[in-house]
Amino acid sequence: MNLIFLGPPGAGKGTLAGHVSKEFSIPQISTGDIFRDAIKRETELGKKVKEIVGRGDLVPDELTVSLVRERLTQADAQKGYILDGFPRTIPQAEALDTFQKLSAVVNFEIADAQVVERLSGREICKTCGAIYHVKNMPAKVKGVCDKCGGPLYTRPDDSLASITNRLDVYRTQTEPLIAYYGKKSLLKNIDSSKSPEDTLVQIRAALRTLK
Ligand SMILES: [Zn+2]
Repeated sequence: MNLIFLGPPGAGKGTLAGHVSKEFSIPQISTGDIFRDAIKRETELGKKVKEIVGRGDLVPDELTVSLVRERLTQADAQKGYILDGFPRTIPQAEALDTFQKLSAVVNFEIADAQVVERLSGREICKTCGAIYHVKNMPAKVKGVCDKCGGPLYTRPDDSLASITNRLDVYRTQTEPLIAYYGKKSLLKNIDSSKSPEDTLVQIRAALRTLK
């Protein structure tokens, strides 16, 4: 089961990829994790990434694709995987097609206004990474994590200007992938405007049709 989870920031992709990963025993693979892992293992590609990231530059497509390719050859990805946040652009998708056969692309649909509402109230625990929302899922004690007592903070990425910018980048660079995978009949559209539970039910139903 080779899957891509596609959708704008705030659609809940990462969280739901985590659930699906556990349910189907396939790894959730994000480029951020791959970069960190390659740097830690000090592979050739990892050394390059470390240098680029250290300079504060963006990792170029070619290197990202090589790292994804290397990651997908590892033992745990042989029965399937969920790519979370990759590919981000048409050239990346075309490169992926040269060495992988996909089962489905789960496309999380949500309106921009709702993304802004979700992300602008988001708070994250500095200690354990748990995610809260000032309106939709507040911590029991303001500013303190329910799970571990750690302090909550707002990521700089979740400022209004940054959210709008991330949405713009998504709509311009990544949204063309919807048409790209639509033509290949791989697209499973999911309404992710409701609760994570509701979204998960839809994903399960979509994946059932693959078997
Ligand atoms: Zn915590």
